[in-house]
Amino acid sequence: MSKGAKQVLVIGGGIAGLSSAWELARLKVNVLLVEKSGFLGGHAIQFCCKATDKCQKCGACATQKRLKEVLQEPGVRVHLKSELKEVIKDARFRVTINRRPILIDPQKCTNCGICLEKCPAGAVKRGHSGRNTCLYEIDENECLYFKDRDCTICRDECPEGAINLDQQELSEAVQEVDAIIVASGFTPYNPIEKTRFGYGINKNLITGLELERMLRQKGRVLRPSDHQVPQKVAFIQCVGSRDPQLKHVFCSQVCCPYALRMARVIRHRSPETKVSVFYMDIQTFGNDFPRFYRECESDLRMIRCMPGHIFQGDNDRLILRYVDEKDGGPVKEVFDLVVLSIGIMPGETNKRVAELLGLRLDENGFFAVSNGFKRTSTNQEGIFLAGTSQGPKSILDSMAHAGHAAREVARYLGVLK
Ligand SMILES: Cc1cc2nc3c(=O)[nH]c(=O)nc-3n(C[C@H](O)[C@H](O)[C@H](O)COP(=O)(O)OP(=O)(O)OC[C@H]3O[C@@H](n4cnc5c(N)ncnc54)[C@H](O)[C@@H]3O)c2cc1C
Repeated sequence: MSKGAKQVLVIGGGIAGLSSAWELARLKVNVLLVEKSGFLGGHAIQFCCKATDKCQKCGACATQKRLKEVLQEPGVRVHLKSELKEVIKDARFRVTINRRPILIDPQKCTNCGICLEKCPAGAVKRGHSGRNTCLYEIDENECLYFKDRDCTICRDECPEGAINLDQQELSEAVQEVDAIIVASGFTPYNPIEKTRFGYGINKNLITGLELERMLRQKGRVLRPSDHQVPQKVAFIQCVGSRDPQLKHVFCSQVCCPYALRMARVIRHRSPETKVSVFYMDIQTFGNDFPRFYRECESDLRMIRCMPGHIFQGDNDRLILRYVDEKDGGPVKEVFDLVVLSIGIMPGETNKRVAELLGLRLDENGFFAVSNGFKRTSTNQEGIFLAGTSQGPKSILDSMAHAGHAAREVARYLGVLK
């Protein structure tokens, strides 16, 4: 940390928060990075590389790289499992941060995974990147020791003695910060409320986020029910987005790109698998989209129709009902695996953070910009927005937006002209 330098609070350690923190540190501004979960990287750290025989520019690797850069940056102080508790605005901001206990000591932990293996309650969580100083964390809401103190298996089994279950919650009154960046991200749409699809009931129905994690961890697509490579896969687009019934009329902007890229990865790694994509219309992205889309059309079956109900058939296969786009007749088709391309919804902490900071939310529940020409400014002086807290964005757009927010903050602080 540079002594006497300005200090900025960044809320959220996803790709946007990491990018703002890194850019500010390079401008010699000290950063206090507050992340509510036990890991940095947000959603994007969970994604797979979508390269086929060539890079498909999905941006997933950029998150790994930025995380490494931030962890090596002495100007950034990270508080995991922490949230803003109180803010008092004076000449500067006086902020109080609530820090939940970090139960696994990152200095002692060797990432052996014994705690995860032995925990009877599923309270030990594995992160998605070894770049996080500790790959495991204990969720005290699920941990039996925090319920009735009668389980200490993880602590007893840890060969390094890295687990301390008796740590107390801390409230840290951080002296003062000069500005705040809200980079608290988004919540993925939960398709359970779309009962016609039967998510949670149909075993081989997964979300785009689950497919991202599966491809990242296992390298290929497998049916959850029997771990076999599926022969027929369907993607259903716009699940939770552009849906007047749900009052989510906005486009999430990332689902067409991520679904088409993952569909091509599936075909590349398992050429015997046939992939169909059900869509309303395709959201374009990037300058070379027309070429990319032509390749998709020759490799994938594109069906312009949104399926109705999904039923489970024999051998856990899924029966989709839809209307034939040519003759309008009803079709029943069977797939081995169906992927719901879930969209980007406002962050679950938006209301609380908005109340604490006196910020306005827009009609969809994302943080509102105060001025259409300044994409990072808010209705409060000294408070700025970065990434998907402000609305749907890709990884690369979130990074660009976060960089812009950092430069706006630096101008506000007089560090940059
Ligand atoms: C299924 C799916 C697949 C996608 N695939 C791609 C892809 O391949 N390529 C691409 O470019 N984009 C993709 N995206 C979009 C991508 O996820 C976003 O662009 C990116 O994650 C945005 O980063 P963020 O930092 O704004 O938000 P997030 O990733 O949501 O990070 C926000 C962070 O803030 C933390 N946080 C939240 N509230 C608080 C609080 N009150 N206090 C402290 N911390 C808080 C969260 O725990 C989280 O770590 C995909 C999206 C989805 C849903």
